[in-house]
Amino acid sequence: MLVTGPRGTKDILPEASGNWQYIEQVVRDICRLYLYKEIRTPVFEHTELFLRGIGETTDIVEKEMYTFTDRGERSLTLRPENTAAVVRSYLENKLYADTLLNKLFYIGPMFRYDRPQAGRYRQFHQFGVEALGSKGPAIDAEIIMLAVQLLRKLGLDDLTLYLNSVGCPQCRPIYREKLQDFLREKTLHLCSDCQSRFERNPMRVLDCKKEKCTEQTQGAPHIADCLCDECSTHFNQLKSLLTLAEVDFILNPRLVRGLDYYTKTAFEIQYSPLGAQSAVCGGGRYDGLVAECGGQSTPGIGFAIGIERILLALEKQNLLPVISNAIDVFVAPMGSDMQGIAFKLLCKLREKGITAEMDFMEKGIKWQMKQANKYSAKFVAIIGEEEAAQNKVMLKNMLTGVQELVSMDEVQQKIELDVEA
Ligand code: ATP
Ligand code: MG
Repeated sequence: MLVTGPRGTKDILPEASGNWQYIEQVVRDICRLYLYKEIRTPVFEHTELFLRGIGETTDIVEKEMYTFTDRGERSLTLRPENTAAVVRSYLENKLYADTLLNKLFYIGPMFRYDRPQAGRYRQFHQFGVEALGSKGPAIDAEIIMLAVQLLRKLGLDDLTLYLNSVGCPQCRPIYREKLQDFLREKTLHLCSDCQSRFERNPMRVLDCKKEKCTEQTQGAPHIADCLCDECSTHFNQLKSLLTLAEVDFILNPRLVRGLDYYTKTAFEIQYSPLGAQSAVCGGGRYDGLVAECGGQSTPGIGFAIGIERILLALEKQNLLPVISNAIDVFVAPMGSDMQGIAFKLLCKLREKGITAEMDFMEKGIKWQMKQANKYSAKFVAIIGEEEAAQNKVMLKNMLTGVQELVSMDEVQQKIELDVEA
């Protein structure tokens, strides 16, 4: 019996990996443009980090973590997201000592015990950025612009940017109480998760995707009406910066993160054709997180984009680039005696940076020519006994069909001349 891959995981096969490399390249180019530098942290961390950094009353921590005990009896968790790990690394490596503002990005696998379906996996990949050190609101706007520009560069339109402010530990408790007052009589009609959220984290009730909860929260008070002066000024400034940058947004009072260390800006970008898995990007400000993780109070903001969902969106809109696998030359030895000479030529060409392949299957010339076509080879270098005796190859230009006997040393030049032209 074959052992299969675990549920919710996916192999990225050779035919698809080019698409991943394409997205990763666009991501890296954008980050270079905005001066965000890559940080690579481990895929597992002490469980404690995520309990503190994501919050014990969130779905991720309550239901979705891959937690295990290692042979040394430590509790470790495969990262379900990367903000907490970046903050951990920022503190542990004292990145704050180098510069006032750290602008970081990551790309990599995340792990959540989600219910697998299109756009939802147990191992999935995120690209994310974190800016640590600035209170904003200009950095908030920059971060949002980075996400918007990335998605535009990939060709995606039909995107909606939702925006909200979740206040701060000064003003949020007032809202929380107002919301609880509103929900109190309705608790029996909420789902069981939301019934427990009502006490522990009532703002998350607004976030629940169950229909009955959405119904019950119609007409709930808006946090915008409870923001303190500082939060409200920040929010207004952000909105006018985005307007200056000519980015459309929709205010969404349901967009919440109910934990103390999430502050002010919250945003999400949706691509509605993806249906239930339409969120492609989620982000927000977390001015309390660094202190929560044991550092000096430092403001921060970031987002994460789900790469699988971006890929689905690009596929849907036919936006994936056609990737050329064309090679410069296929080296075709005629008979196994010629293998050594062919291999020597192959090595020389590759050393010069020429994309070259040869026949490793010891097949006849007909098969080799077919193979060369499969690779869209620009040239085929045929080496038979006669050619070898003169230290030459028969170089065939596959576009023009012209064949010419050239010396081994000239092959490279001929190909380069053609490739440049
Ligand atoms: P959802 O509401 O769809 O579960 P989320 O709020 O859990 O999303 P975030 O924690 O904000 O998602 O993660 C940021 C992005 O990562 C999401 O917008 C989505 O694109 C992607 N993402 C999250 N969970 C998964 C998953 N299980 N599989 C694939 N992509 C995911
Ligand atoms: Mg989720």
